[in-house]
Amino acid sequence: MTKEANITWHESTISKLDRRLQNGHGSCTLWFTGLSGSGKSTIANAVSNELYRQGINEYVLDGDNIRHGLNGDLGFSEYERTENIRRIGEVAKLFVDSGKVITTAFISPFSSDREKVRDLFEEGEFIEVFVSCPLEECERRDPKQLYQKARRGEIKNFTGIDSPYERPTSPEITIQTDLLTVEEAVEKVFEYLRNKNII
Ligand code: ADP
Repeated sequence: MTKEANITWHESTISKLDRRLQNGHGSCTLWFTGLSGSGKSTIANAVSNELYRQGINEYVLDGDNIRHGLNGDLGFSEYERTENIRRIGEVAKLFVDSGKVITTAFISPFSSDREKVRDLFEEGEFIEVFVSCPLEECERRDPKQLYQKARRGEIKNFTGIDSPYERPTSPEITIQTDLLTVEEAVEKVFEYLRNKNII
């Protein structure tokens, strides 16, 4: 028997830092929160598109995809909303470990749920982006006609109508979409990422 036959090859574990070094940029979760129609999805996607264009490893965790797939078993009771956010947080954490810049766009109305997600991450990896827009303007936009349905009583526990939205008290980034264009909002997020040396 040759000597080599008794030698086991130990693969070294590839760390988050290794992946970041290979990518040439940091990884984080940009957690967009705000009322329905405030612009979370629009801005999260615009940010991800620009990241992709700049050669940065990105991914969008999109509400509908998650609700259809991973969280297809969850409805909208208080417990299920909390569980929905918890699972999304765990998935986001895996993506950050994989070295990506993630954008997520979920109303995530409860502070305690958002804080629990923040606690999953290391310092600086969880970036809360408060997409602020007056309810009247969200309702005027009503891109999915959800407010109309909620006002007619066809949707119960609708955030802003008959369920509360708890505003973030100290978000890393605040975007007022009644004042900024989508392009200006994207620039504000990029400015933050550049200042923190994430990109
Ligand atoms: P959310 O994901 O928060 O429910 P969406 O992004 O789906 O919201 O919808 C927001 C709607 O508001 C879109 O139709 C978008 O075109 C429109 N909109 C108008 N102005 C802005 C802005 N400055 N930023 C983001 N969205 C805007």
